Amino acid sequence: MTTSPTDQTQQTLVDRFGRVATDLRVSLTDRCNLRCTYCMPPEGLDWMPGDEALTDDEVVRLIGVATGRLGVDEVRFTGGEPLVRRGLVSIIGRTREIAPHAELSITTNALGLAKTAGALAEAGLDRVNVSLDSIRPDTFAQITRRDRLPDVISGLEAAAEAGLGPIKINAVLLRGVNDDQAAELLGWSVERGYELRFIEQMPLDAQHGWSRETMVTADDTLAALSASFDLTPAEEPRGSAPAELFHVDGGPAKVGIIASVTRPFCGDCDRVRLTADGQVRDCLFARSESDLRTPLRAGASDDDLAARWVTAMAGKAAGHGIDDLGFLQPDRPMSAIGG
Ligand code: SF4
Repeated sequence: MTTSPTDQTQQTLVDRFGRVATDLRVSLTDRCNLRCTYCMPPEGLDWMPGDEALTDDEVVRLIGVATGRLGVDEVRFTGGEPLVRRGLVSIIGRTREIAPHAELSITTNALGLAKTAGALAEAGLDRVNVSLDSIRPDTFAQITRRDRLPDVISGLEAAAEAGLGPIKINAVLLRGVNDDQAAELLGWSVERGYELRFIEQMPLDAQHGWSRETMVTADDTLAALSASFDLTPAEEPRGSAPAELFHVDGGPAKVGIIASVTRPFCGDCDRVRLTADGQVRDCLFARSESDLRTPLRAGASDDDLAARWVTAMAGKAAGHGIDDLGFLQPDRPMSAIGG
């Protein structure tokens, strides 16, 4: 039962440390058309059964609860790979209708974006984050286990043409694979007006192969870039943004460093996640989840769903705890949580 906007009471997704979540990451699927080595095995994973995944109506309803009652003003669609979700354009269009104030973005590997960028922009999408770790076809294929670099590049170009900017590129550096290509990737991105961010690899892969010793750190990346570029910290306040920004050769181009492991930013976290099967994750590294799908399918009202969501956030941990002795990687892999 949905209630009219006027009698909706506004609540916030505040946790016990006073952080307020306003940025909702919605995973629309756990499936992907790439097989990145730092994410999943070559054979892929046992995908979520169809009836466990939220329908388009259910996804839009929960987004409506979050944006209409819980103070969410940013919605990022993720996966797996969100472009493989059949109803994506319609979900974005309906989200735009119910949340005209919200910023809508997507995290994608850009396969297929060349075809859909225009429709996504028309539906109300604001901007895209594209995952790209190398501009060398052989390295790209080595990391993703697919020979699809040209499709990613044409997807980026189509996004620029459709006005889905600022276009951000997320890159992960792997020791001995592409860690010697950081400066090349930055030069390429600056030439095209893309804002590149390097993300430290996190212990979220399905095969649990992550190791701190082999991870390329933010300091490693900055050292590699500084050999070719003059980097100066950007002045603007960072706020809750994950990336530390640096001007490249005096600007206006910038590069970002997302040092999730070595310089965590959990103290200012404003993110909350909804999985493709209707579970709330208060943190990327949460070890427990709160189920919204069951009450939703059992006829719960929006008031009830909102109250459950507020309760789900209250107990959020101070941070990811990767450095804690007892740290345990979440059971749910990155591909089923989303960026
Ligand atoms: S690790 Fe968790 S708490 Fe930290 S920034 Fe990410 S989502 Fe927020």
